[in-house]
Amino acid sequence: MIIDAHLHCTGRENTTDVLRTLDEAGIDTGVLLAPFLGDGYSLNDAASLRRANEHLSRLVRHHPDRLIGFAVVDPRDPAAPQDLRYAVEDLGLRGCKMVPTGWYPYEERVQPVFAVANELALPLLFHSGIFIDGRSGRFCRPTYFEALRDHPRTRVALAHMGWPWTDEALAVALIDRIHGIPYEQAQFRLDISFGPPPAYRREVLARMLEVLGAGALQFGSDCFLPCSGAHVMERRQWVIDLMDELELGADTRHRLWCGTAAAWLGLKLEAEAPPMALARPHGLPRRNAHDEDSTGGGGAAHASVPRPWRPICC
Ligand SMILES: [Zn+2]
Repeated sequence: MIIDAHLHCTGRENTTDVLRTLDEAGIDTGVLLAPFLGDGYSLNDAASLRRANEHLSRLVRHHPDRLIGFAVVDPRDPAAPQDLRYAVEDLGLRGCKMVPTGWYPYEERVQPVFAVANELALPLLFHSGIFIDGRSGRFCRPTYFEALRDHPRTRVALAHMGWPWTDEALAVALIDRIHGIPYEQAQFRLDISFGPPPAYRREVLARMLEVLGAGALQFGSDCFLPCSGAHVMERRQWVIDLMDELELGADTRHRLWCGTAAAWLGLKLEAEAPPMALARPHGLPRRNAHDEDSTGGGGAAHASVPRPWRPICC
């Protein structure tokens, strides 16, 4: 099974096309974020975000197994707490994406939204790290999200591994590891959508795996819908290539592709074919430092073709 834990809607997509994109890319379940960048939607326009959440609700409502809708709210807006509650309880959305721009996660004024998320025990996705489009990333440093520890029932994912503050993001997620909290109950995890430019990726992912383990890391393409399945598959291939270069074992790959995200989303994974099926079978199975199971597996490194880095992230 493969979960794409970070897919953007724009308002221009429809359900049929989204499902086709997922099928073409081999994605079983997609976490779809309500539109908030352009096409009449803006993080600075709360009314547009209400429209965005309504659009997303219509988009996902008949496919709860494949499409998981995340509301977007501006927590500075006084109505945002009730907007979030409405999005979950009435619109059927199942989590929330927030992008700190013009507010810091530790500010008093944004805590009421976090409190609602805590009450509903929601999975939350936050942009963390700089913005590639030139907006200031100063609101999005990973340590600022420690404020969520005051809302311990929320399940937080920090996008892009916080790049360029990847050590800082690692440290935030490490606290749960230090305290011995099982991955499935940890409050923080990181999505590995890039984020780090190509020259950084192998080093960053290897360090995250070594220190945090794959149970704290989840795949997200960060693609903007509508798009082709080939576009999502290209992002998947970046990850597959890194997995092969790092010679990751089957259990590690399984956690990255779906295990971590399933726990974040509160999904029960059904028994499935061995996760080796997710890997491209290069060479003989082998065991290495990144394997977390006893099965070994994975694949030998292979020469990867450099792929263009698309400088879009949010
Ligand atoms: Zn994004």
